[in-house]
Amino acid sequence: MHALNTNYDVIVIGSGPGGEGAAISLAKAGKTVAVVERHAFVGGGCTHWGTIPSKALIHVVREFATLKKSRFAANAHLPTRITAAELMQTITDVVALQVREREGFYARNAVTVVEGTACFLNSTTLEITDSDGSRQQLTASAFVIATGSRPYRPTDIDFTHPRVVDSDTILAMRELPGTLTVYGAGVIGCEYASAIKDLGVKVNLVNTRERLLEYLDDEISTALSYHMRDEQGILIRQNEEYERVELSDKGVVLHLKTGKVIKSDMLLWANGRTGNSEGLGLEKVGIAIDHRGNLAVNDAYQTSQPHIYAVGDIIGFPNLASAAYDQGRFAGTHIATGRCDERLVKHIPTGIYTTPEISALGDTERTLTEQRIPYEVGHAFFRNLARGQITDRRAGMLKLLFHRETLEILGIHCFGHNAAEILHIGQAIMAQPAPHNTIRYFIDTTFNYPTMAEAYRVAALNGYNRL
Ligand SMILES: Cc1cc2nc3c(=O)[nH]c(=O)nc-3n(C[C@H](O)[C@H](O)[C@H](O)COP(=O)(O)OP(=O)(O)OC[C@H]3O[C@@H](n4cnc5c(N)ncnc54)[C@H](O)[C@@H]3O)c2cc1C
Repeated sequence: MHALNTNYDVIVIGSGPGGEGAAISLAKAGKTVAVVERHAFVGGGCTHWGTIPSKALIHVVREFATLKKSRFAANAHLPTRITAAELMQTITDVVALQVREREGFYARNAVTVVEGTACFLNSTTLEITDSDGSRQQLTASAFVIATGSRPYRPTDIDFTHPRVVDSDTILAMRELPGTLTVYGAGVIGCEYASAIKDLGVKVNLVNTRERLLEYLDDEISTALSYHMRDEQGILIRQNEEYERVELSDKGVVLHLKTGKVIKSDMLLWANGRTGNSEGLGLEKVGIAIDHRGNLAVNDAYQTSQPHIYAVGDIIGFPNLASAAYDQGRFAGTHIATGRCDERLVKHIPTGIYTTPEISALGDTERTLTEQRIPYEVGHAFFRNLARGQITDRRAGMLKLLFHRETLEILGIHCFGHNAAEILHIGQAIMAQPAPHNTIRYFIDTTFNYPTMAEAYRVAALNGYNRL
């Protein structure tokens, strides 16, 4: 549909969290704003094929696993498996709710949403091509590129083959395979491997690194490997690289460089991502892209063209919806006011929705040792907490790293049910100015009992008593 107005103060390309953060902040600052989105609905990859559908799927899988484990399961006539159709229905419902929310934000803030693919013609004009091929030109004095990223696809693998999927296409699977090989053990690979195993599918996970998610604290990464291998029954191959992939009607054969061969019904490729920068006409405005398709920006999210900003996955690390939204807001503020003093928080939390969940913030034991910072560690094991026992969520722990002399919190690492939520309690304290950012808060505070939050008091006391 053609926009009635063809000139705006700012045009945002992409309606994911990065684009939305920018558009809404600009509209609130009184700017006329259009968002161009090539997908039929707003929300970005985050809503349609990334964060939201994967988390909705993981939730259903966990809910089913909990039901099956429940003491009432024997009388509940539960099906043996969830079907792909049931999973899709839940995901579709959640995505629809999210789209409705986001459409409401744009409507309430008088942001024009234009459907089509945007390409720069020159530094002030975009050409928008609609799905029916019709074109229109829109002009603005500033732009925000928030076009996101997509899975990297090596050219020697046929991604049109029905037995090969990546994180963008996995949700279109009509039925669940008997066996799945996940190639790539980053966050997306680990999350899908864990969830799909819990659906009753045999899973092989091939990691190109030596450890799973090696940037995590070693103890947490080891706990994840143990759970995936011993508790879930996932076959993990570490430090392996593929040589070739053999595809046939019968299945997939993954040949590894070490000579190992892994056979399965399907392959989920989860190794690397590329910025969505092709076709944007960046060469016409003199903006360079790197080998990953990403754009370089300064602290204010300006590209080499100061009136063209870029936020979210298209600028690379940290590739998180949470950060993309904030970057969008910061870019919007800079466009509207000429300055923005806000920055992404120093420690960006990681939420990894494996079974059990992982969440982390700040330094690990390894990074503290490298920096020769004197630290102590405090643990709380979920199996010892009253709430963990009542809810039968006994697998997991909270680990606090703190400075031996000042007691300042240096790192928080959580592994277990609801870790991504539990982490934020510690984050709030860690972000306080000194001397309020120490484990003393947890020692001196009265917690609700029984709660999982109590893990902070237990871990703080555990560490404090070692000093
Ligand atoms: C499987 C998976 C799970 C994830 N889980 C999490 C998680 O749990 N937590 C978390 O924080 N992050 C998660 N992420 C990452 C998160 O989804 C991304 O970091 C986030 O979506 C990036 O936001 P964005 O605004 O940069 O881009 P996107 O959300 O990808 O949106 C970009 C939009 O731009 C549009 N577009 C692209 N090119 C054009 C063009 N030329 N013209 C018009 N429109 C265009 C696209 O259609 C898309 O809608 C996950 C990602 C994946 C793939």
